[in-house]
Amino acid sequence: MQIAQNHVALIHYTLKNDAGEVLDSSQGQEPLPFICGAQNIIPGLENALIGKVAGDKLDVRVEPEEGYGQVREDLIQKVDRANFQGVDQISVGMQFMAEAPWGQQPVTVVAVEDDGITLDGNHPLAGQVLHFAVEVAEVRAATEDELSHGHVHGEGCHH
Ligand code: ZN
Repeated sequence: MQIAQNHVALIHYTLKNDAGEVLDSSQGQEPLPFICGAQNIIPGLENALIGKVAGDKLDVRVEPEEGYGQVREDLIQKVDRANFQGVDQISVGMQFMAEAPWGQQPVTVVAVEDDGITLDGNHPLAGQVLHFAVEVAEVRAATEDELSHGHVHGEGCHH
């Protein structure tokens, strides 16, 4: 069976950045499941997988436009320390959920200064060219429940 719209695929992958550093990998874990066409994974990776079958191995290069987008300067903001009442120690790299006009937005502390804290709301992989080494582990039809929920059910599922 080939990976196609509304099919479930399970993949093993290793993700490296342009410098060749491993950022993430499914090795030693369960393969990553996704429903093709349900925006479970970034478009550049999904598009490269369409038509593949179990056992296929491929290397996929994903540009930021097809990955996590370009870095948006407007998502980097300096805010007053008063926003962090109840937080004892604020340091670079800490992550918080912020209230944005479109809902909850994860932000990362990128600078701590006397006059404020600089937060970055970009995805940590924004602006990066991504290199995936992928092996397709399994392809199957999605169930009706999976399609209506927009995610894969199975081992380790939250239901
Ligand atoms: Zn569900």
